[in-house]
Amino acid sequence: MEERNCWRCGKGLSPGSLFYVIHMKIVSGFDGMLSESSEGVDQQLKELLDQVQRVDPKELEKEVYEEITLILCKSCRDRFVEGVQHPWEGPFRIRKDPDSIRH
Ligand SMILES: [Zn+2]
Repeated sequence: MEERNCWRCGKGLSPGSLFYVIHMKIVSGFDGMLSESSEGVDQQLKELLDQVQRVDPKELEKEVYEEITLILCKSCRDRFVEGVQHPWEGPFRIRKDPDSIRH
């Protein structure tokens, strides 16, 4: 059986051991508004079609929709979740509260 590795720390995850799967879907957002242009919608569509013809369809698809699957060990999963939920705190919590420093 193929051994899995943690995406973050690279630790080998032997068959039967605990691991976590992150399944990400990155979808291009659309709010229903087309950017306004004096050239009008016809011109915009024409440009869009030109663009589509130039770009590799696989690449274009990636820009609109991409799925990524990551496998993590338990401790990396905990850190990942922490990072997603509190991205502003960083890995080390630096206390900026001046009241905590007293001499
Ligand atoms: Zn790990």
